[in-house]
Amino acid sequence: MRGFSTNAIHAGQEPDPTTGAVIPPIHASSTFAQDGVGGLRAGYEYSRSANPTRTALQECLAALEGGRHAVAFGSGMGASDVLLRVLLKPGDHLVIPHDAYGGTFRLVDKVLSRWGVEYTPVDLGDVAALRAAVRPTTRAVWCETPTNPLLGIADIAAVAEVARTAGARLVVDNTFASPYLQQPLALGADVVLHSTTKYVGGHSDVVGGALVTSDDELAEALRFTQNAVGSVPGPFDAWLTLRGAKTLAVRMERHSDNAERIAELLVAHPAVTRVFYPGLAEHPGHEVAAKQMRRFGGMVSFSVAGGREAALRVCAATKIFTLAESLGGVESLIEHPGAMTHASVAGSALEVPGDLVRLSVGIEDVEDLAEDLRQALGAAAS
Ligand code: PLP
Repeated sequence: MRGFSTNAIHAGQEPDPTTGAVIPPIHASSTFAQDGVGGLRAGYEYSRSANPTRTALQECLAALEGGRHAVAFGSGMGASDVLLRVLLKPGDHLVIPHDAYGGTFRLVDKVLSRWGVEYTPVDLGDVAALRAAVRPTTRAVWCETPTNPLLGIADIAAVAEVARTAGARLVVDNTFASPYLQQPLALGADVVLHSTTKYVGGHSDVVGGALVTSDDELAEALRFTQNAVGSVPGPFDAWLTLRGAKTLAVRMERHSDNAERIAELLVAHPAVTRVFYPGLAEHPGHEVAAKQMRRFGGMVSFSVAGGREAALRVCAATKIFTLAESLGGVESLIEHPGAMTHASVAGSALEVPGDLVRLSVGIEDVEDLAEDLRQALGAAAS
């Protein structure tokens, strides 16, 4: 068994056998020559079905999550769409987290529901509530932990037990934690989902998604449906994602160091009424997070005294934290979930508080980040 970073740097990335290139080439070819009809030289036929650069990324991601198969997609939502089409049919029921990523909710509420899929939002931190929500038709439980944007924690092993008893598959969206901090397959999940746009890619320069599973049949169904609908990443995107993944472990350590420090600063700040970070001892999910995560990650949310208007002023006042959607890159970002990433859940059971600000704490010098937040909170309060 190799270690995490050895896999990140080497899995799926043997030197190129024809040239010796140490880094997997970007195979920018849509099609592959055949030696006679059906005579595939290396198993490749057409790049929607498979491409060698994508294969390298998939082998690496499978190793990082401890799964047998990974399928890479053109976006996290492309991965979610294919997975839900494979797991559900009309009349089936799905459990989603009560503060899921807004795009996941939109896909379920606006697209899948038109195809006869029913869903119930549940606080997955409350296993009794999950038990009460499952029905004979429940085919999948969709879990995010930590959740976006409230950093709620679900006990993956406990949720897996309820899903298994109900005959449902457990999907864990592991985007916020990354495979370095948390490995849901080992805790009983059937499939792990990533928006590789975030920590796996790590540099805010590529959009992508991935599914990882150890279930051979499910993997085959995912590949079949992906090829049927076509939501594949291009070879350059696969290559950029793979390049980012190599440094995942060192980046996550630094993200966690910086976020822990920023969370402490926010707790002590008079303009902040509440801090959401699973690394804080007072966070209701702290013990479960400590059990299933290596560290607590780089995402921190907080409520601002003065409500929505004050929260919007903080978002506009930072100088190093860039006001932008997304997360997980080396640079620090700030956003207002209610008006930005989670605007699609307004008016639903998943609506987020207007006084909430979300930070993606980057890997800059933490003193500069602390000073930036202090001045922005001061400016917003005055
Ligand atoms: N899951 C989570 C937790 C996310 O934050 C996001 C995007 O923000 C997605 C899934 C969707 O991924 P993508 O934007 O790559 O389609």
